[in-house]
Amino acid sequence: MRKPFIAGNWKMNNNCQTAVELAAGLALQLKEVDSVDIAVCPPFVYLQPVANALSFSNIALGAQNVYAEPNGAFTGEISCEMLRDNCCTYVIIGHSERRHKMGETDEMINKKIATAIVSGLLPIFCVGELLEQRKAGKTQTVVADQVRKGLDGLGVEKALAVTIAYEPVWAIGTGKTATPEQAQQVHKMIRQLLADIYDQSVAQQIRIQYGGSAKPANTAELMAKPDIDGLLVGGASLKADDFADMIKTAAETQN
Ligand code: PEP
Repeated sequence: MRKPFIAGNWKMNNNCQTAVELAAGLALQLKEVDSVDIAVCPPFVYLQPVANALSFSNIALGAQNVYAEPNGAFTGEISCEMLRDNCCTYVIIGHSERRHKMGETDEMINKKIATAIVSGLLPIFCVGELLEQRKAGKTQTVVADQVRKGLDGLGVEKALAVTIAYEPVWAIGTGKTATPEQAQQVHKMIRQLLADIYDQSVAQQIRIQYGGSAKPANTAELMAKPDIDGLLVGGASLKADDFADMIKTAAETQN
């Protein structure tokens, strides 16, 4: 049985004070929850203060991006080692905003995933189709291609370190959530693909999150789907009450 995993992607939001307050508020509200894995992913510059606010809590820390080289002349980039130094357990890789606004390719994403795992980080690997791709009936092929390319060359052991986040691009930050049925259809396809690439046992162990305007009101119905193992949450993770509510709902769905 896969333990649900809910992560908050704070994107380029908050300042130092509000980031720490948000983290401290979550730590307090979620201290009893042990049936859901929880993470928050603040901007790089707030990792350390947020880590302090989360010490002794059950909330893990993640980063929103990483660079695939260990060190060197890469102005403005951050390495896996640096993230580990700043208490990160997870790292979001291939978020649609990085794919479509910063031009990240499947090959770059694959390299980042492999490097992150070797460095002891757990990648949250994002995939998802654009609206025009969905309208053209290409959702399954686009997402399958992203999954294959992102995991290319990863053996079983490394694949088991990955969480996949299915995030239809048209649903991110738009208020338009995929219906639970639409999401389940893609999650099921991804799991079948994992069984084809690896085997059924690996496919049953890898967690697949849904992301795209997830909020308290739709958490229960999304989490009730058999192949939805958690959520990657943007906007709603910026409000402690909403994010805590979603995690508690997921914990109840579990019980
Ligand atoms: C995200 O940024 O990964 C995301 C899903 O954002 P939102 O929940 O705001 O749609």
